[in-house]
Amino acid sequence: MTLSTLQRSIKPLIDNELIIESAIGESTGGRRPALYDINPEGPYIVGIDISRSYTRFVITNLNLSTIYAEKALPISSPQQTITAICDTLKETLNDLSISKSDILGIGVGTVGPLDREKGIILNPTNFASKEWVNIPIKDIIERDLGIPTFIDNGANSAVLVEHLFGIGKKYGNMSYFNCGMGIRTGVISSDKLIRTSSDSEDSFGHMIIDMDGEKCSCGNYGCVECYCSTLQIIRKFRSKAKAGRSFASSKPPEEIDYIDICNMAEKGDELSREIMTDSAAIFGLALTNYINILKPELVILSGPLFRYSQLYYDVATSAANKRLRFKDKDNPVFRRGGKFQINSISLGAAAMVFEELLNQ
Ligand SMILES: [Zn+2]
Repeated sequence: MTLSTLQRSIKPLIDNELIIESAIGESTGGRRPALYDINPEGPYIVGIDISRSYTRFVITNLNLSTIYAEKALPISSPQQTITAICDTLKETLNDLSISKSDILGIGVGTVGPLDREKGIILNPTNFASKEWVNIPIKDIIERDLGIPTFIDNGANSAVLVEHLFGIGKKYGNMSYFNCGMGIRTGVISSDKLIRTSSDSEDSFGHMIIDMDGEKCSCGNYGCVECYCSTLQIIRKFRSKAKAGRSFASSKPPEEIDYIDICNMAEKGDELSREIMTDSAAIFGLALTNYINILKPELVILSGPLFRYSQLYYDVATSAANKRLRFKDKDNPVFRRGGKFQINSISLGAAAMVFEELLNQ
């Protein structure tokens, strides 16, 4: 780029106070160059995470260095959920004395498949409410708040933010897994976000690992998700407990939730450990197949499945490491959760706003 083209390109960014002169660089012979950086005092961005079992939002600045507010809200029907997010966001902006005109945009990281261009959530599986079908979320939020809104799937948002600002900065090839009621994956390959048709992110979860296996919600048999989700772990625990297996809790089996199972497993309860380790070993096997195809240098395993269980993480990663056929130095680095932990998707959705606007 010639100097005059560069100056023309960055002028709108300077005029809109999106970037500022931050320092004067070393001379390479001529005049010392001015260095520019994202303006941390500039406009705000909002990132919203709509996952299957919770929603969260953050209000942050352009380089994500400050989180001015973060809120978690329950999820129910689309209408109630989106209204609650918009109302709480308005209240929070009011409390912080931030006007809507100071918000550059809103990013939503959610569950695919999506029509990303039109901003529509199509027909995701495993939401408790069956009403999450064809939801024009971009239009609904823009109508209510009057702020430009962009959507992407949450796994893409999370892998993007960890790559640009988090623990994946030095890796050109990395994968992010968000595992809970389902499994969502985001992939950066050669520094680029890999998109799939319909922006779905569930290909890992529907990898078939047992031809004669259990029936999956997708209609196939023996998918990874049949064995490796919080829902399946709870289902298996309750069924074995009801069949007479003892376990270390006074709660009836139908009240045992995933966190109870994790806690019991960590304390040595035999039934909980058996169910968690069986599931994690299957996850590790599928992870080996996935790593052999994509060859990521970094694999971030996050979401409730891993967040609440060190045991699950240890068994899954050691099962994968045992089978990976590369030399040790070529095996990926595994991490339990990224830099941004529970805010990965919401902050990623915020980072996506800046990326989208830059690319317009
Ligand atoms: Zn499936």
